[in-house]
Amino acid sequence: MATAGNDSFIAEGMTPPQRILFPPEKICMVWQQRQSAGAGLRNVGNTCFLNAVLQCLTYTPPLANYLLSRQHSQACRQQGFCMMCIMEAHVNKVLRSVSAILPLAVLRAFRFIGEHFQLGREEDAHDFLCCTVNAMQRACLSASNDLDISSQSTTIVHQIFGGFLRSRVICFSCKAISDSYEAFLDVPLDIKAASSLTAALEDFVTPEHLDGENCFQCSKCEKNVAATKRFTVHCAPKVLTVCLKRFDCFTAGKISKVVEYPEYLDLRPYMSQADGEPLLYSLYAVLVHSGVSCHGGHYFCYTKASNGLWYRMDDESVQLRSIDTVLRQQAYLLFYARCSDLRIGERPSSSLAPSHAPSFLSQCVASSKQAGSVGPQGLTGRTKVTLGSWVRASEE
Ligand SMILES: [Zn+2]
Ligand SMILES: [Zn+2]
Repeated sequence: MATAGNDSFIAEGMTPPQRILFPPEKICMVWQQRQSAGAGLRNVGNTCFLNAVLQCLTYTPPLANYLLSRQHSQACRQQGFCMMCIMEAHVNKVLRSVSAILPLAVLRAFRFIGEHFQLGREEDAHDFLCCTVNAMQRACLSASNDLDISSQSTTIVHQIFGGFLRSRVICFSCKAISDSYEAFLDVPLDIKAASSLTAALEDFVTPEHLDGENCFQCSKCEKNVAATKRFTVHCAPKVLTVCLKRFDCFTAGKISKVVEYPEYLDLRPYMSQADGEPLLYSLYAVLVHSGVSCHGGHYFCYTKASNGLWYRMDDESVQLRSIDTVLRQQAYLLFYARCSDLRIGERPSSSLAPSHAPSFLSQCVASSKQAGSVGPQGLTGRTKVTLGSWVRASEE
């Protein structure tokens, strides 16, 4: 059985990458320039979901640091649509403007980001986030064809947002353990039975009993047996994106209940290796949906600028808010950044020194031994990567 004393734990069962596309030590988690919030974004009719997602991405420190350096466009050979070039231009413009801007390049690229999107229609912000991150990932991979799955997870996009989950099934009769791993870019959490983020995470790692129709085919026992299945976070991402599943796809209704979330989150209890140093994350963006159904309503967000202050960003409007207000929202998406060397209570803005936190993802994939079960669709098909669809797929 796997043991690990620290975060540099090596994931078993994952193929090592043949190439490292972005050097992990160059990912900087701490803002490299300090300033007040940038500009708001103009709404061209039902585009608040797009504005809110763009603002959350703009204030993602490791992504913004990289885009502000313009390293991508200097080396980009992509002809036509490139989401990284678009995001680089967007972030540089937003963070250097005072008056609201129109995210024209993103709007023009709308159908390239997701074929199913229609301008003028309110889209789901989580869907748009997934498609945007996936489009950035495709841009990072465009110059490298035929890469193995592990190498695909060494792009800057995957090193920022990506992590790995482990699913462990234990046979009831012979006690054999079978593990499988799956890449994720965000963690959709069920909130029907949870009143807080930590309770939802607790539910998520609670073992599920497999029996009857759901029973497990044990390769050792060579028959269908009862078993337990448990998910854990195996490799923690640098940026943890959580979607609180407020929308019911079948009824189109919304779960409007309060779900509490902390400013600082310790992911350690939900890891495969649950004992050890706390794995601290600091909240830096909250995307909010107001309204009663997923087909309407309004999206806005709260983001923490590089000066350490929080702002409410509602289309064109950018206004200072207190952390207390930020923590009392009907959150739909929560964005947490790994605190590499911060203790709870310290303000990340108090230090502008670059921090080269180790890349857990690349360590996970770089040092493993054998080919494993990170599936072939694991990193390219966005829907296959999310936890929600994975859990659904395994339940069907
Ligand atoms: Zn590009
Ligand atoms: Zn068995």
